[in-house]
Amino acid sequence: MQANKFQSLLKPHLAGLEEYTPIQPFEVLSQRLGIPASEIIKLDANENPYGPHPAVAEALAEYAYYHIYPDPQQTELRQALAQHLVSEQRQDESTGSVPFEQILPSHGTDEILDYLCRLFLGPGDAIINTPPTFGMYSFDAKLVGAEVLEVWRTDDYHIDVEGVFDLFNSGALKRESVSPKLLFLTSPNNPSGNWLPDEDLLSLLQLPLIVVLDEAYVEFSVETSRSPWVLEHDNLVIIRTFSKSAGIAGLRLGYGIFPAWMMPILWKFKQPYNVNVAATVAGLASLRFADEMNSIVEKIRAERERLFNALQQVPYLSPYPSGANFVLCRVEGFRSAGNGDAAALKLALEQQGILVRYYQKPGLDNCIRISVGRPEQTDRLLVELHRLA
Ligand SMILES: *Cc1c(COP(=O)(O)O)cnc(C)c1O
Repeated sequence: MQANKFQSLLKPHLAGLEEYTPIQPFEVLSQRLGIPASEIIKLDANENPYGPHPAVAEALAEYAYYHIYPDPQQTELRQALAQHLVSEQRQDESTGSVPFEQILPSHGTDEILDYLCRLFLGPGDAIINTPPTFGMYSFDAKLVGAEVLEVWRTDDYHIDVEGVFDLFNSGALKRESVSPKLLFLTSPNNPSGNWLPDEDLLSLLQLPLIVVLDEAYVEFSVETSRSPWVLEHDNLVIIRTFSKSAGIAGLRLGYGIFPAWMMPILWKFKQPYNVNVAATVAGLASLRFADEMNSIVEKIRAERERLFNALQQVPYLSPYPSGANFVLCRVEGFRSAGNGDAAALKLALEQQGILVRYYQKPGLDNCIRISVGRPEQTDRLLVELHRLA
């Protein structure tokens, strides 16, 4: 496109923003490969292969007030979420449970990440990111002109807690006059699937920072959510989503669990109608059938174990243990493609209509991430992986 005189009006930090590479839509891919969409095995975005509970479609069909604006305070949904948090809490948890006043639903958790960055960050500020991890934290921070300070994870993807403290104590921050405000943590981490231990989280909460703990995959873990911790830590925010365990990624519904002091500013800040009525209706129906959805989550967990064990038998793959609904694998010795192993494998699978995510970046070179599908999808994947060996 030709440059024009208005382009200089754009904020300068946005001009240098890295381009975001969107994934190829399912339908486009299906056309390109000449494979019907219904036959494509989509294991590349950690979606729930079973979709939502049937009650969700029923509730959406029956709802009669789509012409009315949503409740900006989302009271019914917040109350249902508060009850849900009680139901999943460990019996021995002594802290009490999160009141609905400290829960804020959102248009996917992406929206909460955006709010946090805009509330706390401007030029000269920074986030502490712990790569390899979810890409949205650094993306949202850069959008508001903040810097991204990286403390790399260890070889087995654990947080380098000392490294985070060193960053603080080294004096480098003062020298470069950058002030970190937010620390992003993910448990289980995407794409590695490992859990952040309590003691690491407790240490990191000692820092003078807002700690954002992303629990997008917590339902798939044998561990429990740290949501009650917000009652005891004024610098902890937890984010959760309906995209993965509840199977409604397409409807965009997430929520944040915040310390009480943050709520007034969030209410002033948020878009009044940030959560649409369809997402609300679907979310409420999912929560009514939480037990049934839990059985699906258990099925996915069992399938993850089967997938993990089977992947260990594939000569060119080394899977990492995962507490989420995906398994990260190192690819080595696939068709002697060397550095291109993961890319070559991804392409070979794609030709067969099987989609996985591949990485070629620091900490993740030659890695693929496979989402847990239905058993018959795992079977097809495994046949293909062995055929390709
Ligand atoms: C999928 C995912 C989310 C969910 O994002 P939504 O906007 O709620 O769909 C959040 N965090 C991580 C780490 C994820 O992988």
